[in-house]
Amino acid sequence: MDGHRVAIVGGGFGGLSAVLKLARAGVDVTLIDRRNHHLFQPLLYQVATGALSPANIASPLRNILRRYRSARVLLAEATGIDVKNRRVVLSDGYVEYDSLILAAGSSHQYFGHDEWERFAPGLKTVEDATHMRRRILLAFEAAERETDPEKRRAWLTFIIVGAGPTGVELAGALGEIAHDTLRCDFRSIDPRSTQIILVEAAGSILPSYPPKLSAAAQRMVERLHVTVRTSALVTKIDESSVTLRESGHETTIPTRTVLWAAGVLASPLARSVAEATGAALDKQGRVTVQPDLTLPGHPEIFAIGDLANFSYQTGHPLPGVAQTAIQQGVYAARAIIRRLKGQRTSRPFHYFDKGNLASVGRATAVADLRWVRISGWPAWLIWLFVHLMYIVQFRNRVLVMVQWGYMYLTHDRSARLITGDDPLPLDL
Ligand SMILES: Cc1cc2nc3c(=O)[nH]c(=O)nc-3n(C[C@H](O)[C@H](O)[C@H](O)COP(=O)(O)OP(=O)(O)OC[C@H]3O[C@@H](n4cnc5c(N)ncnc54)[C@H](O)[C@@H]3O)c2cc1C
Repeated sequence: MDGHRVAIVGGGFGGLSAVLKLARAGVDVTLIDRRNHHLFQPLLYQVATGALSPANIASPLRNILRRYRSARVLLAEATGIDVKNRRVVLSDGYVEYDSLILAAGSSHQYFGHDEWERFAPGLKTVEDATHMRRRILLAFEAAERETDPEKRRAWLTFIIVGAGPTGVELAGALGEIAHDTLRCDFRSIDPRSTQIILVEAAGSILPSYPPKLSAAAQRMVERLHVTVRTSALVTKIDESSVTLRESGHETTIPTRTVLWAAGVLASPLARSVAEATGAALDKQGRVTVQPDLTLPGHPEIFAIGDLANFSYQTGHPLPGVAQTAIQQGVYAARAIIRRLKGQRTSRPFHYFDKGNLASVGRATAVADLRWVRISGWPAWLIWLFVHLMYIVQFRNRVLVMVQWGYMYLTHDRSARLITGDDPLPLDL
């Protein structure tokens, strides 16, 4: 379309929905991502707990866009933008643009305690998920070989920090692994003696959900042998314990496996973009955008998804979920297409909240669909349907459906592999 060049940084939910919309309209668009795949992050916890394989939830970007001649994919790391010359700066070059969509997402944060990352891995990438899977499975292996009861107890204690959807889903899956999947696999330990502790600083788990659903989710995880500790603040994590502060008292729990599911920080790209454009950054490192998702004084630059703070609708930033990113990606692409057609600028972005879903173990979930709030099996069917619908590529939908069907019938988790070259942490 008229030689207008669009560059998009990030092929996640936001960037992918934008590139598809632009490519279908025949716009010349370059998608830059430091990874060669789009990742369906909501199911990462299933890779971390051996239910799915990485390839089931990731799709090569080139393959997704192969039919669109006007779309180009570049495997590259964006490090900043050169606003004056309209170029995305890469670690090894640059890409020129007329319009730019920034969709580089976010990562986890440790609230000023980056040293905890070593002991408490987070979940954001395929590598994070396989690392977490390794840590979980190795803990059972180490417990099997450990003869000291106290040390063995520490190996069989799993602490999950943060009881948002990811924390709750991880805790539920761990409960299943310990009490069901691995029940007969070991000879020296009984995996059912595993302690799973879900720690949350707020007063309830799933704090962003209506209280009735939070309470239902708590009952469900407790049925899966998870101990919930709310209003509990983590004050220290090291290789052999976690310290919690509850009602002014500190408790130290010996554990060898801590999983981090708390705190989100926008991609570091947001900071260099803010420096280049003068846009404001919020506490979570997101760039503050205008009602049409552009940066102040730069109508040619859009920021969307986890990278952007859009507060015009509710007075608070929109939730960092896939729906926000998808809807913003479509909006930004449409705005560019309208401009190219010489049409009036679009109306301000408006988020349509379709609700929230979280699965809690085998065949149970909570669903807040705004017009109806349900929990249990019906909610799980909705969760199942929605996730299958949003997984990119038909092949992966089929693979995931087959894996889930198999797991449902046999209670097995076929992707229970310990991979990676790090030395075994079996310090017995
Ligand atoms: C474990 C987990 C579970 C989740 N569960 C849910 C859920 O159940 N429901 C829900 O709605 N949301 C969920 N979310 C949130 C949801 O995944 C995000 O809100 C969504 O992915 C944001 O989309 P995005 O396009 O802004 O960023 P992302 O989807 O994160 O995509 C960012 C892309 O940018 C690329 N990138 C980053 N930096 C650079 C750079 N410098 N150069 C080049 N490329 C770069 C990355 O490789 C990535 O492909 C979950 C998130 C996680 C981590």
